[in-house]
Parts: sequence; C-alpha cells; structure tokens
Amino acid sequence: MSDNVRRATPIELPPTITVRDLAKAIQSSPIDIIKSLMANGVMANINQQIDFDTAAIVAAEMGYDATLEATEAAEEDQGEIPLWRRVIAGENPADLVPRPPVVTILGHVDHGKTTLLDALRQTHVAEGEVGGITQHIGAYQVELKGRTITFLDTPGHAAFTAMRARGAQGADIVVLVVAADDGVMPQTKEAIAHAKAAKVPIIVAMNKIDKPNADRERVKQQLAEVGLVPDDWDGDTIVVPISAKRMIGLEDLLEAILLVADSMDIKANPKGQVIGTVIEAERDRAKGVLATLLVQNGTLKVGDVVVAGTAHGRLRAMFDYRGRKLHKAGPSTPVSVMGLNDVPVAGDLFQVVESEREAREIVFERAQISQQAAATAKSAVTLEELFDRFQAGEVRELRLIIKADVQGSLEPIISSLNELNKGDIKITILYAETGNIGENDVMLASASNAIVIGFNVQPDPAARRLAESEGVSIRIYDIIYRLTEDVEKALKGMLEPEEKEVVLGHAEVRAVFTIRKVGNIAGCRVLDGEIRRSARIRVIRNGEVVHEGPIASLKHLQEDVREVRAGFECGIGLKGFDDVQIGDRLECYVLEKVAVA
Ligand code: GDP
Repeated sequence: MSDNVRRATPIELPPTITVRDLAKAIQSSPIDIIKSLMANGVMANINQQIDFDTAAIVAAEMGYDATLEATEAAEEDQGEIPLWRRVIAGENPADLVPRPPVVTILGHVDHGKTTLLDALRQTHVAEGEVGGITQHIGAYQVELKGRTITFLDTPGHAAFTAMRARGAQGADIVVLVVAADDGVMPQTKEAIAHAKAAKVPIIVAMNKIDKPNADRERVKQQLAEVGLVPDDWDGDTIVVPISAKRMIGLEDLLEAILLVADSMDIKANPKGQVIGTVIEAERDRAKGVLATLLVQNGTLKVGDVVVAGTAHGRLRAMFDYRGRKLHKAGPSTPVSVMGLNDVPVAGDLFQVVESEREAREIVFERAQISQQAAATAKSAVTLEELFDRFQAGEVRELRLIIKADVQGSLEPIISSLNELNKGDIKITILYAETGNIGENDVMLASASNAIVIGFNVQPDPAARRLAESEGVSIRIYDIIYRLTEDVEKALKGMLEPEEKEVVLGHAEVRAVFTIRKVGNIAGCRVLDGEIRRSARIRVIRNGEVVHEGPIASLKHLQEDVREVRAGFECGIGLKGFDDVQIGDRLECYVLEKVAVA
C-alpha cells in the first residue's frame, strides 16, 4: 500500500462512472477493474455505473489518487464524440437541414416507460392505411403539428447502454420518466448519469399524476437534489406532468420535446455521407437478417451497399415502422432493412460504401483485427487447464456461471452440481440465470476465472467474439447429466479433449416430405455456408434447440451429395429425428477436437 501511496498519480473522477470509462481513465483493462471490484465484494459489469467512492478504491489499487471532479467538468469531459456526429460536423454548413429529433425514454422500472411509448404510439402515430398495423422495429415516429419526432422504442433494453458504450450515442434528447408516487430511484439516477455522459439533454416526464398518492413537490425536490432543477423553480429542466395510463399531458410532452429540439442544432445533410446506428437486428426465418437502422446523415436507398459492424450486404428491401415499403430514408428515419449477410450488434455504426468489394475488404480488416486480439488473448480458462491447476494445488475451486433457457432447468442443474461438491475441491456457482449467454457473462467469467455453462441456450454473437478474444471457455449442453458428468470429469482430471464447435452453415426447412420406410425428409434451402453430409445438425425452432444429431441422408435433385452450398435446395434426413417442421432452421456444424494444452 505504501508503495501505491508513493507512486500515486493524481486523477479527477466524476461522481459516477461506468466501469468502461473508469478503465479508460486509469488506462487499465475493464477486466482488471471488474476483478478488483469483485475482490472488494462488488459484482459489476462493464456498463455498470459505480460511484466515486468505489471508483477511488479501485483507482488507488491501480496506483492513482482520485479526487472528485467538479460536476460541470465531469459533464464536459466524458465520452468521445460519436462518429456520426463528427461526420455531420464535417459537412458544409450550407448543406445542413433540420432533421427530426431522436428521443429515447429512460427511467426506473415500473415508472411507466412502456405505457408512455404505447400511449404515444396510439395517439400520435400518423394514421396509415385503414387497419395498418405498426410494426415493432425498435423505433417509431410521431407527428405533431406537421413536425416529426423519432422515438427509440427499446425501454429498459440494452440498446441505449450499448449505443452509449460503443460511442455511438443515438439520441438527441432523453425523456426521463419519474413516477410521481415513487420519486427518484436508483435507475433514475443511472439514467441521468447515462444522459449526462452522452451530453444529451433531459426532459422529465413526471408520470402517474392521476394517482392519489402522487406527490409532485416531493419529486421536484428530489430532482433538484440530483441536479435537475425544474424550470418552475428557476432551473433549466423542463418537467412535464403526465399520466401515460390516462393519456394526460402527452401533447405537452411532445411540445416540450420540440421546444428543446429547437434550442439545439439538430441537423444533418440528406445528400451527405450515409451513416447511422443499428437499433436492433435479428435473423428471421423467412426474410433472413432483418436489421433496424437509424439513418443519422445522408439518405439510405434500396440497392445501397452497407457495412454494419462485421455484417455487410446490398439492401434488398426497406420498410418503415408501419411496414410500408420505402425506397429511400433520410436523416432520423428508422428503417427495417433486408439484405445483410449477418446479424449486426445493436449499437454498431453502419455506413454506405461504394461497392460490395469495398464492403468485404472493410469487414475482412475488422475480422483480422479481432483475430489478432484473439491471438494475444490472455490465459484461457478451460476445464482441462483448471484441472491442471487443481493438481498443482493452485486452485481449489471451480467457478461456474450458468445460463439456462428456463428457470425449471436451473434448479436441477444447481442441485446436481451441489452434489458433486464434496471433498476439498469446491464448485462455486457465481450465478445461475435464465437467458442467452451475453457479453456480460463472458466479461465476468474472464474476470473471475470462471467457465460459462449454457443449457439449451447459445452465446450471442458479441459474447462469442469476446469469449474468443478473452479465451473464456463456453460449454453448451442439452442434457443435464452430460453437464454434471463433464464437470465431474474435470474435477477428476479425466476430461476428454475439448471439442470446439465450428458452424458450417444454415438451412431453412421449406417443405417436409414423408418417404415410406425412411421417414420425414426436410426440403431445405441453404441460407449461408454449406450443409455437409458428415456434419451434425441442430434443429432450431422459435429460437430454441429442439434436436441435435447426425445427418442420415443429404440429397440434391435426387442425387446423394457430400455437400450443398448457400443458395441451393436440398433434402435432409436426420438420424433419430422425425419431427422436423416447416420453418425450422437447421444449423450445420462439426465438432473439432482441441488438443489439451
Ligand atoms: P416500465 O417498467 O417503466 O416500462 O413501466 P410500465 O409502463 O410497464 O408501467 C408499470 C405499471 O405502472 C403498469 O402497471 C402501468 O399500468 C402503470 N402505469 C403506467 N403509467 C401510469 C399512469 O400514468 N398512471 C397510473 N395510475 N399507472 C400507470
């Protein structure tokens, strides 16, 4: 400690800071910060806000002497300017024209974010064709007095955090929902910190004013205490009393948004370089990759070649939030597009490039950068390696993070793992939750030398990439006893070489043929990559894995073939599985043995 004191470098930190920003500020890796937090009994992920006192303890361990920054300075200094804003700043001012403000709604859970978004959608989305159904694409637009406002419709969703974290802050204005009967709560403060860090102005929607126990003055007092002094108290934060449920004050709120927008310079060049942010993306069974993009500068057109993160493609079709076909979309327009070859990550920037060749080059470069990162990955945590370390007496604990599809699977997994927990080696379950394996799980696993175990769930693309670059082991099971068997084997040091899964391609089932004595054959179209006769197939239905196993037969135009490539049709018979259905997605993969180091 005395060493630290001697070397301590002075640093100023804001009242709250995310783990990521703290890492940047004290020039260390977020993983080290998470480790240090854990050692201090705080479980935090990279996007989490920690307060100054906690940050100061961590900073001290890294050789810094932290002092609290003056609040204004904190606001000025945080976060980089996102690329799309820099692109707009680089445009000729004469080409800039006003664009609709982009608004995101934040606030504490249950304060009414979803209700407010629904109410605005019901009352202010311009009427489309009779019976026109608004699509849920993660964003929509409302009209007021001939003006348009774009709302990001992902409350409580990681999108805003992800956007901010990736330096692509998408919103111009934050509407902070605070329930008048509950007041300022922890997530309210977190939202304020996010908005301040992104330098996005806040309008407070004081919700639930219809409730008998609503206490407006108390809430205003609390807001003032956290630095949002209401305008009727001579401050500069607009506070609009509303009831999302009873649809009171919605128009006032929209007017306040336009007022704030008018005081800002919300402009873009519709003829300029096309750039924007990925709001959300998924793979649709019928349509392929569907991505919602928010255009922030320029005009996006059908036929444009787009690069989004490590996905690319020529846009085949474009729709607005009402599901209507569009040919072009200008600044602040959210659109759902088809034509990307892969699912980009929410918060990724997208850009239009000259040609598909250029797109491939950019993506190739990005992939190489992430591969290089993987090559320099730190100590891999594999079950095999852990056993070596058990033997060497270095570790006496196997740490696991468990993710499962449903709560019902978690309990038997935990209890059977606990049964293994005898002797002098301990199995510690850091946490067990339902849901897919995300970046945060991998981050925590890396920080705590744990292994991520998935039961009937898959890592999302970002998690997979991070696991590769950090060398974190993710093991997926669909049968509980295999899972416990592996863990037991690891504890006994009998684990077989780890098998690494390599996905070869995907196909979609478009028809099912019943052939006598053989059973059901899936008539498929190969969507990407290839289907290989010798490989294994995973049947995915509604996002869930319903079967995994080898291929019994693979035919193309009645011929037995060894492989079928993307764009072609084929018939696939599955060994031991007859329940294939139209719409199922087949993932073809091989298991490669990875030598034990
Ligand atoms: P979220 O978690 O912030 O998205 O909150 P929700 O929109 O799900 O709302 C939480 C609960 O508060 C729901 O039961 C809503 O019906 C209720 N609620 C939302 N707005 C109002 C309001 O203006 N008045 C009243 N009385 N209840 C509301």
